[in-house]
Amino acid sequence: MLYLVPTPIGNLEDMTLRAIRVLKEVSLILAEDTRTSRKLLDHFGIETPLKAFHAHNEHQVTDFFAQAILAGQPMALISDAGTPGISDPGFLLVRACVQAGVRVECLPGPSALVPALVVSGLPCDRFHFEGFLTHKKGRKTRLKYLATLEHTFVLYESPYRLLKCLEELAACCGPDRLACVCRELSKLHEEVRRGPLTDLHADYRDHPEKVKGEIVVVVDRKEG
Ligand code: SAM
Repeated sequence: MLYLVPTPIGNLEDMTLRAIRVLKEVSLILAEDTRTSRKLLDHFGIETPLKAFHAHNEHQVTDFFAQAILAGQPMALISDAGTPGISDPGFLLVRACVQAGVRVECLPGPSALVPALVVSGLPCDRFHFEGFLTHKKGRKTRLKYLATLEHTFVLYESPYRLLKCLEELAACCGPDRLACVCRELSKLHEEVRRGPLTDLHADYRDHPEKVKGEIVVVVDRKEG
């Protein structure tokens, strides 16, 4: 069995009882950053051995781990924070396990996506999750596509690129399109700002001290 185990995105109280039990019971935990995860696991008294599984080695080690699980070694995959596979490594291992006939289970738990979407006050009956926008060729085309969506969309963004992102969104979606910037969800300095894209851009431009931490941007759908 492979377990995908979500871990807190900021508040340790969001670790579930089941996540702790599963992480104690498996024979190996695959972690994005073993040092970061060791601190979390120590906090919960989890002594299970850790092995690295991250964007730089997942192509090389995926089949090895899938075969080891198939041979009878239950494992859990965790990322630095949130749900593995959501803008984090996970997909390749899940696919390899599914193809090999290994049972895969994902525990429900923390992710930045859902709280941001729900707290935004924007329609959340349907939504599109974009994750991080590409910095490469095709970014403009992608932004133009997002602007046409008839449902709310969600972006992950770094503080270094928030202003540029809001500016580009305002240019593609129009300055009055409503949006919501969620920073530091579940942490001490959590902040949620809602308003037209152009106002949000001006706000953060005028308060650079606020442009820090981890950020999710939620943008309203195109009016039908
Ligand atoms: N797997 C994670 C999840 O389930 O949300 C996402 C990992 S991705 C590498 C990290 C990005 O998630 C951050 O750059 C930010 O956009 C978002 N994020 C993670 N924690 C957050 C938090 N506490 N508040 C706001 N955004 C957060």
